[in-house]
Amino acid sequence: MKRYDSHNHSAFSHDAVCTTEELCKAAIAAGLDGIVISDHFNIPQFKGMDSTAHIVDSVKSAKQAAKDFAPRLALFTGVELGEAVWNKANADIFIGAINPDVVLSSVHAVRFEDVRKSFSRIDFSEWDTEQLDGYMQAYFRDMQEMVECMDMDILPHLDNPLKYMNGRYNKGMDTKPYCRKIDRILNTIIERRIALELNVSQIGLAYDNFMPTLNIMARYKELGGTLVTIGSDAHHAERVGINFDKGAKALYDLGFREYHYFKNREPYAVKLEG
Ligand SMILES: [Zn+2]
Ligand SMILES: [Zn+2]
Repeated sequence: MKRYDSHNHSAFSHDAVCTTEELCKAAIAAGLDGIVISDHFNIPQFKGMDSTAHIVDSVKSAKQAAKDFAPRLALFTGVELGEAVWNKANADIFIGAINPDVVLSSVHAVRFEDVRKSFSRIDFSEWDTEQLDGYMQAYFRDMQEMVECMDMDILPHLDNPLKYMNGRYNKGMDTKPYCRKIDRILNTIIERRIALELNVSQIGLAYDNFMPTLNIMARYKELGGTLVTIGSDAHHAERVGINFDKGAKALYDLGFREYHYFKNREPYAVKLEG
């Protein structure tokens, strides 16, 4: 089976440490055929193209690595946008200027009361069920608006707050109460040909779940979804491609027979093997 990992970070992301070259070497060692370098850019930080220099450099570095590592490894340019929906006009300017192979668009922070920092930095330990529920409602509201109107190719880690609420703070949150909202999101991405990512980064760690859960992946398939990608969401070279085969097997077991990668904003199917 060919292995294309559609979600990875290099040191051009604020929270990652490896160079593009280290990522590529690790990807080859992990048996991958291709990777996307999808460094972070949060749209609320957009203050003209000068503010995006690290992404310009990330894309430049990925293009150079594509030459250096061909034909052993295919490199694709990408970006993981955060909070694009907070300013659609700026997101469009940014994507037009960067012109990557693939755009991942994520919700990492929510327009929830006055708590607007990234949920990876929120201390949920003292939050009660009602507050957590309010937060999840707002999270899915932001995501719905994003998938309806943004220029994007992949929806990453659909139930990401659970990684923190449950994995870090043991809140026992479930996505079941939000199944109607999630259905609406899934129907929208199916209609708009936006891929759903199976994020495999947390397998074997505290949260120890696929993101989204396999129940949601199964529901996506039931609703007619076929366009899936696999992302290790590596922030360290040693994490690239990790759990890739577990993700591929999980998709196969759910009945998917192919997954995808993107080049020039177009999806390409790859056969899954059981
Ligand atoms: Zn993310
Ligand atoms: Zn990421």
